[in-house]
Amino acid sequence: MSTFKVTFANGAQMPTGSNFLVELGGRKILIDCGLVQGERYSIPINREPFTYDTTSIDALFVTHSHLDHVGRIPKLVRDGFKGKIVSTAPTRDIAELIMIDSMGVLSKEAKHENIEMLYEEKDVLNSMHLWNDIVEYEKPYTFKTDDGDALFVFHDSGHILGSAIIEIRYKGKNLAFTGDLGNTPSPLMKDTTKLTNIDYLVMESVYGDRNHKDREKRVDILKDSLISTINNGGSVVIPAFSIERTQELMLAFNELVENKQIPEVPIYLDSPLGINVTKVYKKYDSWFNENVEKTIKSGDDIFAFKGLIKTPTSEDSKNISNDERPKVIIAGSGMSNGGRVLFHEARYLPDPKSSVIIVGYQSAYTLGRRLVDNAKEVIIHGEVIPVRAHIINIHGFSAHKDSDHLVEFVSSTASTLKKIFVVLGEPKSAYFLGQRLFEEYGVAVNVPEKNDVLILD
Ligand SMILES: [Zn+2]
Repeated sequence: MSTFKVTFANGAQMPTGSNFLVELGGRKILIDCGLVQGERYSIPINREPFTYDTTSIDALFVTHSHLDHVGRIPKLVRDGFKGKIVSTAPTRDIAELIMIDSMGVLSKEAKHENIEMLYEEKDVLNSMHLWNDIVEYEKPYTFKTDDGDALFVFHDSGHILGSAIIEIRYKGKNLAFTGDLGNTPSPLMKDTTKLTNIDYLVMESVYGDRNHKDREKRVDILKDSLISTINNGGSVVIPAFSIERTQELMLAFNELVENKQIPEVPIYLDSPLGINVTKVYKKYDSWFNENVEKTIKSGDDIFAFKGLIKTPTSEDSKNISNDERPKVIIAGSGMSNGGRVLFHEARYLPDPKSSVIIVGYQSAYTLGRRLVDNAKEVIIHGEVIPVRAHIINIHGFSAHKDSDHLVEFVSSTASTLKKIFVVLGEPKSAYFLGQRLFEEYGVAVNVPEKNDVLILD
């Protein structure tokens, strides 16, 4: 009865698709239920049946609202899940926005490929009906099993608004899932909470084999690229994730514009999702770090500045192409694998005066990855587009800890750890981090494969 075990259902040896099954005291729960991100949402792996009986799952605990952590929840519900969904309040709010937003891409893909939609709007709404248990950081949530209570503690992971490390305390053993770990110190978020007394750690490794070399200089690189492109008469396109990256860019532009460090040009926020998520960020402004809190208290609206033009409707968006002035366009998706940014890239990639600034992780097989890999031409909406614009890749804006900081993160609980499981990274990254952790702390490390099982005894 008092089994305590983890199945790595997905997110093993890949950076996306977070999904872990935990069995404890005769109950089954999931940590995250995310989409595998590739060139399309509807790639076969996302359409496969779940590897466990969805009707037997009692609860789903969600680390944060990125699509690779929540994007298969509506499918889980469509396939029979009827349990509780538990998360922080911002995670719930943002997840609802991004799941609704994904309908657009899903219906296009379904039509184009003549397949059934991965899920429909009613599945999103049904998911939200199950999503009623809201937790706060550090306040334990009691989960009853057939053999005593388990305590779930959410710690601030400092990654995006509402993001959490989930610690499960059961039968004297502490198991923690890091979710994604923030690039502390972040411009907006508080620092990642330091863990203690963890026995088993399931940790992310997106940047397990690399450091963000340009971290301190990120805003300077952004500023210099912007000034040189604009002085050249070109425009700057920034594909940006709607959550966190867009708000961090807004905060950076807020400072650059208000301190007159860049020329006065229109700055378009061409992302309905980005605009809506920014509203959620404003709603939870007490969740930000001390610096931002001070700025807000001084009366500055951190997400508003001269020159900012929001274009929620597609009509507004189309009008951007009539604006011949040098400008900045921030648009989704962040990996250029869909969304409005493709229209701007089709227009400005062939222009040697313009720039595309990449500010986030680019998954394999995405257009963004092809750009950072120096492709000379790319295909957008079925057309071959030559790449003549400057492609500038700023790693420092990442919302993830780099290799050195992932290693450092483990130090606060290294003395109690029995084993570390490295997940959510490409194999090269996961193995490299695993080796570093073993060498640094002498703790047993495993890089699980999909469907591997861990029994905690
Ligand atoms: Zn994330």
